[in-house]
Amino acid sequence: MEPEIAEKCAVYRRLLRLARPYWPHLTLILVLSVLAAPLALLLAFPLKIVVDNVLGSQPLPHALGLLLPTSIHASKSANLLLAIGLLLALSLLMNLQSFAAWLLQTYTGEKLVLDFRTQVFWHVQRMCLLFHDTRGTNDLAYRIQNDAPAVQYVFLQGVMPLVTAALSFLGLLYVTLRIDWQLALIAISVSPVLFLLARKSCRRARSGWEDIRKLDSSAMLVLYEALSSIRAVKAFGREEYEDQRFKLRSRHRMEEQVRVASMQATFHVLITTTIAAGSAAALWVGVRHVQAGMLTLGELLLVMAYMTQLYDPLRTISGKLPELQGWMASIHRAVALTAEAPEVEETQQAIALARARGEIVFREVSFAYPSSGHALERVSFAVPPGTRVGIIGPSGSGKSTLVNLLTRFYDPCAGQILLDGTGLRRYRLADLRRQFSIILQEPVIFSATVAENIAYGRNNATREEIMEAARAARAHEFILSLPAGYDTKVGEGGCRLSGGQRQRLAIARAFLKDAPILIFDEPTSAVDIHTEQEIMQATDELIRGRTTFIIAHRLSTVRGCDLVLVLQHGRLEEFTPDFEKATAALAAPDSREAGRFFPSYSIQ
Ligand code: ADP
Repeated sequence: MEPEIAEKCAVYRRLLRLARPYWPHLTLILVLSVLAAPLALLLAFPLKIVVDNVLGSQPLPHALGLLLPTSIHASKSANLLLAIGLLLALSLLMNLQSFAAWLLQTYTGEKLVLDFRTQVFWHVQRMCLLFHDTRGTNDLAYRIQNDAPAVQYVFLQGVMPLVTAALSFLGLLYVTLRIDWQLALIAISVSPVLFLLARKSCRRARSGWEDIRKLDSSAMLVLYEALSSIRAVKAFGREEYEDQRFKLRSRHRMEEQVRVASMQATFHVLITTTIAAGSAAALWVGVRHVQAGMLTLGELLLVMAYMTQLYDPLRTISGKLPELQGWMASIHRAVALTAEAPEVEETQQAIALARARGEIVFREVSFAYPSSGHALERVSFAVPPGTRVGIIGPSGSGKSTLVNLLTRFYDPCAGQILLDGTGLRRYRLADLRRQFSIILQEPVIFSATVAENIAYGRNNATREEIMEAARAARAHEFILSLPAGYDTKVGEGGCRLSGGQRQRLAIARAFLKDAPILIFDEPTSAVDIHTEQEIMQATDELIRGRTTFIIAHRLSTVRGCDLVLVLQHGRLEEFTPDFEKATAALAAPDSREAGRFFPSYSIQ
C-alpha cells in the first residue's frame, strides 16, 4: 500500500476507535437528524390540504379520510382547522427534535474532543526528548489545543450531516419518484455534475487547509517566543522586529485563508447555479404536466416543495465535502504526533527498582543527535555509590548529554550504562526516574503555590513533610515571609520569586523526593555570593550519602568533589580524584582547538 494511503487508513481507523464508545450517542443523533427530514416533509402537507381541499374542491387524501370522521370530511372549516392543527403539532415536534439533537451533539462533540486531546497529550508526554527537540513546544501545543478539536467537527458537522443528507436524499427521491418519476429524474440529472465539482473543490481545499494550519502554527510560535521572552525583547528593544515577524506570518496565513475561501465561494456559486438549472428544468416539465392533466396544481406545489428539499441534501453533500478537508487536515496533524512509538521504551520484562544504591558504570557509551552528529564517543567510567562527581569540559563537550543518558531522556547509540550492576534499559522507566533528582541552573517552577511546587517532588507528601524539606533547603524562613506562606501563588515560572528563592524551592523539592542519585547543573552559577553560600549549605546536606553528578561551570565547584570527569569533544579526557590533574587535562592544548574553551572557566 502506498504510504499516503496507509497514513489515511491509519487516520480513519483512529477516528473509528475514538468514536467507538459513542456509537449509541452518534446513532441517536443520526436518528434525530433523519427525523428532521420527514417532519419537514410533513410540514408541506397542511398546505396541500388548504390548497386542494379548503380552497379547491378535492376530497381529503384517502389515508387521512379513513382516519377521520365524516363530519370533518364534509366541512371546509373543519378541514382548515385540521390543517392548522397539523401545522402547529408538526412545528412543536420539530422544535423538540432540534433541542434534543443540539444537547446530544454538544455533549458527544465535547467528549470526543476531551478524549482525543488527552490521548494525544498522554502520548506526546511519553515521547523521548529527541522527538520534543525536533518538534518544538509551540507546534505540539498548537496541534493538541487547536488541531485536535477538529474531531468533533469531523463527526458532528461532517460525517453525520453527510449520512443524514444521503438518507434524506434517498427518502425524498423515493417520494418524488412516486408522485412524478419524470420530474424526479430531471431533478437528479444534475447530481453527477455536483459530485464532480465537489471532488475538485475537495482536492484544492485540502492542500489549502494544510498550508493554513502550518502558517497558523508558525505565527503562534512568534507570539509564544516574544511573550515568553518579553524581558529580553524589551531589553534589546526588539518590539518592532517582533511586530514585523508576527505581522508577516499572520499576513501569509490571512492571504492563504482568503485564497481558500474565494476558491470555496467559486465552487459554491457553480454548485448553486447547477442546482438552479435542475429546478428550472423540473418546473418547466411540471407546468407542462399540470397543463396536460397529469398532475393537480396541489401536487405540483408539493412536488416543487419536495424538489427544493431534495436539493438541500445535495447542496449539503457538495458543500460539506470540501469543508471536511479542513478538519481532516487538522486531524492528520494531531494523529501524526501519536503515529511514532515512544523511542525510550520499557522492555516486556522490565524489573522493579525500589531504591538504588547509586553505583553508576558507563561502558563504551556513544551517543549522536540525529541532527548534529556525535555528542559522546566511547565514554567509560565507574562511580561507586555515594560519590560526588564533578563534570567539567568546554561548552558543547557533552556534559548535559551525559547526564541526560543517565535518566534515559535519551538511550545511548552504542555501549551500556549500568545502575547497581544492571543495564538501565532493564528497569521500569518510572522506577528508574524515581532514583534521580535533577536541579538545573534555572530551576523549573510551576504557576502554583509554594507548597505545590515543593510537592512536585512527591505528590502524596503531607504539609509537615513539605515544611521539613523546606527547612532542610533553608527555604522555610523566606516562605513564611511571603504573603500567604506556603499557599502563596508564585506566578508563571516563579516570576514573583528571586533566583535564589527559586533555587531553594528546587532543592526542597529534591529533599522531599529523597532520591539516591542527584544531578546538579551548577545551581549556584546564576546567584549572588550570599545566596550562593546559603544554597551551598543546603546542597551539601542534600548531597551527603547520595551519588551526585555536578556539571560545573566554575572550577571552584569541583574542588570538593571525590572524582572529576573531564570531557572534550564528547570524549572522556580524564577521570580522576586529583583536582590539579583534572584542571591540567582541561587546560591541555587540544590538537584541534588549542585552549579555546579554557578562558570560559573561572577559578574562584
Ligand atoms: P555541554 O552540556 O557540554 O555544553 P551538550 O551535551 O549540551 O554539551 O552538547 C554536546 C553536543 O551535542 C554539542 O555539539 C551540541 O551542539 C549537541 N547537542 C546538544 N543537544 C542537542 C540537541 N537537542 N539536538 C541536537 N544536537 C544537540
